[in-house]
Amino acid sequence: MLIRAETLQAAITRMLEAAGTAPDPARIVAADLLEANLQGHDSHGVQLAPRYVLNALAGKLDPKANAQVVRRDGAVIVVDGGMGYGQVVGRQAMDLAIAAAKDSGVGLLALRNTHHLGRIGAYGDRAAQAGFLSIHFVNAVTGPAVVAPWRGSTSRFGTNPICIAVPATKPGGHPLLLDFATSAIAIGKVRVAHSAGKKVPENSLIDHTGKPTTDPASMYGAGPRGALLPFGMHKGSGLALVCEILGGALTGGGTNQPATPNDRGIVNGMLAIVVDPARFGDLDAFRAEAQAMIDHVKTSAPGGDEPVLVAGEPERLTKAARLRDGIPVPDATWDEILAAAAEAGITRGDLAAIAGV
Ligand code: NAD
Repeated sequence: MLIRAETLQAAITRMLEAAGTAPDPARIVAADLLEANLQGHDSHGVQLAPRYVLNALAGKLDPKANAQVVRRDGAVIVVDGGMGYGQVVGRQAMDLAIAAAKDSGVGLLALRNTHHLGRIGAYGDRAAQAGFLSIHFVNAVTGPAVVAPWRGSTSRFGTNPICIAVPATKPGGHPLLLDFATSAIAIGKVRVAHSAGKKVPENSLIDHTGKPTTDPASMYGAGPRGALLPFGMHKGSGLALVCEILGGALTGGGTNQPATPNDRGIVNGMLAIVVDPARFGDLDAFRAEAQAMIDHVKTSAPGGDEPVLVAGEPERLTKAARLRDGIPVPDATWDEILAAAAEAGITRGDLAAIAGV
């Protein structure tokens, strides 16, 4: 089913409001989920809305929480998200780090106890739009761990994303936005594949015995659970561990080790390093050099039918297509959205009418 972005966003906003979210945060969260869909990251789009609603109804997400500064030491800011919407408290916290970077050249944000932050690129983009570079290390404690370490067969990590954002280096240009999970694929992509009855790419999953599999049922089926693999063998595994240490231990939010409670919903911790490139000397020279390198990368002759792209470009291409054609929503996802909306008190018919389906 293809649903237009505006009507789908209106339906998700309405559903979040019904779960006790004020209009402004509901709009921010729904817009963030829709932006993920528009950019092609359906794992982080509206398919998450039912979990948000059910977590809010179960008291695992506080829809009214705002970011609270618990400690400030120069450019170091420690923020507790109070288990509020990551999309809300994460933006509030990032704005503090951006302000610190304006003042002192760097802002170091340790954000803990937020409900799901969504697409981490949204925070990199926020810094980039303000003219700053940023680096993000995130851990995710969402229940039992889902990613096995390199050479392991049982899970030890969350899907722990990393993002590095570089502001546009030419007028009218776009940020370089590198943003991915340290798992071979995002867990949400396994879920999307399971809902759509599709296989996942090779080298992404193992079954509960440690054997490679492409069947998403090994994570979402009725049988014993397998694990996601880290991307890039020992390299991704090492980065996943670093995300636990920086995003979970340094922030104070907790890592995926057994003493950390893992029944609190979807909990993210994020260390964000926001840097003012102007503090390094000649900003124009930096921009020109970075742009020259990006241009050089893109002149590499394609090894196949697909063009050479840089980080952030695939998402912009997908967004243009989805704004034109609508957002694909698998039937199983739509059914979960309708069911969660009904839990929050909106009939299936009313929600479908808002979504225009
Ligand atoms: P992915 O594997 O699709 O990789 C995306 C990154 O690779 C982007 O920077 C993209 O621009 C770049 N890219 C893709 N194709 C490219 C190409 N052909 N050439 C150059 N660059 C290319 O992403 P993912 O690992 O599936 O993650 C999806 C989203 O999930 C991310 O936004 C991530 O932040 C989010 N996530 C969030 C959490 C959380 O706990 N909040 C956990 C895991 C993932």
